[in-house]
Amino acid sequence: MVPKAAAIEGITGRVNAAPSLEQETNPWQAQAARFDEAATKLNLDKGIWKILREPTREIIVHIPVTMDDGTVEVFTGYRVQHSISRGPGKGGIRYAPDVSLDEVRALASWMTWKCAVVNIPFGGAKGGVICDPKNMSQGELERLTRRYTASLIEFLGPEKDVPAPDMNTNEQTMAWIMDTYSMHMGQTVTSVVTGKPVSLGGSRGRREATGRGVATVTDQALKFLNMNASETTVIVQGFGNVGMHSARLLWERGYKVIGIGEYDGALYNADGIDIGELVEWKTRRGTIHGFAGAGPFDKDELLTQPVDVLIPAATENVITSRNAERLQCRILVEGANGPTTAIADEILADKGVFVVPDILANAGGVTTSYFEWVQDRMGYFWAEDDVNQRLERVMIESFDAVLQYAVQHNVNNRLAAYMLAIDRVAFTTKQRGIYA
Ligand code: GLU
Repeated sequence: MVPKAAAIEGITGRVNAAPSLEQETNPWQAQAARFDEAATKLNLDKGIWKILREPTREIIVHIPVTMDDGTVEVFTGYRVQHSISRGPGKGGIRYAPDVSLDEVRALASWMTWKCAVVNIPFGGAKGGVICDPKNMSQGELERLTRRYTASLIEFLGPEKDVPAPDMNTNEQTMAWIMDTYSMHMGQTVTSVVTGKPVSLGGSRGRREATGRGVATVTDQALKFLNMNASETTVIVQGFGNVGMHSARLLWERGYKVIGIGEYDGALYNADGIDIGELVEWKTRRGTIHGFAGAGPFDKDELLTQPVDVLIPAATENVITSRNAERLQCRILVEGANGPTTAIADEILADKGVFVVPDILANAGGVTTSYFEWVQDRMGYFWAEDDVNQRLERVMIESFDAVLQYAVQHNVNNRLAAYMLAIDRVAFTTKQRGIYA
């Protein structure tokens, strides 16, 4: 089939030509294509459309860091605040060599829509620093993190913008940010970041929250399609914080996990992989390589194997016009942000794949971040069971709301999630009015 060109230029009215692979995989254009499609369907007010299409604020910083050998390196960092209409900016910070402003913009917008889908009182923001964390020492990462935080100090705060972990950042990174911010403020301010260690005001259950959310919406999709966990096969791409906990929780719930992919290889076992053992293996050795409970497999081929549930839980653009046609899953649950391009969406729709879109599927992380922010501000911390139950409730309600929207408006799940989110953000944007 010839994929329809995505409405990348949107309201600018330029004629759409079929985009190149480079355009197709530009995350900002991928986000904008979905936004424009949903806004058109919603018949969104043109003024609100223009406001919500662009980020509110984009900050670029160049951060000097003294490396371990005494030389000075300058790193480029971004923080994009897409919307603060429904509350403070919220979203992770990622460290990677290929971070770009367009990527951070897209991720910030996705945070706005994600927070609105699960109806928590945050806007959307995202940060990124161009660096190669795998080749940096802890000391270098700490100095980078502290200087990045100091450069952004006036834009961060519990009521302004609240960072969290994302790719290659973790609880330790959040502890450094919290400490740096607190030193500037002259007091400990735990609620300036989420995803902190539990001993420093983090929430129980936050570490596995994204995976728990993924498992919950997968259960809901099965229920909707009248399927049984014990007869359902799963392939997970990514075995980091999101992929590992998604795979583990689904395996614990009786699903048969037959494939696990990583950036440097994959494992496959048609009889099912013991994920408990694999988690132990990876935790001890830092890699899935050499695990005896499954055979090595080509990491790209893994995505196109016959399976009931495919969970991309690594990075953007893994399902594109180049491989979407060959996918053989019945359900796609997007643990990662932006794993599917807008053109691949159309191909998957034609194939009848049931998609649980990223802004719903991976919203468990930010939902528990919201719980963490609430607990920090109360100074009262909940038991893990309470956190998990509240999270499950939010995920189930949000899944139902998106599905109901899709049926009512006769649109696919992704469009339904965007429409629901945009409608909510448009409402508060209109209510607040334009300050002049
Ligand atoms: N980085 C995560 C995401 O993409 C979590 C963001 C947060 O908790 O603020 O949703």
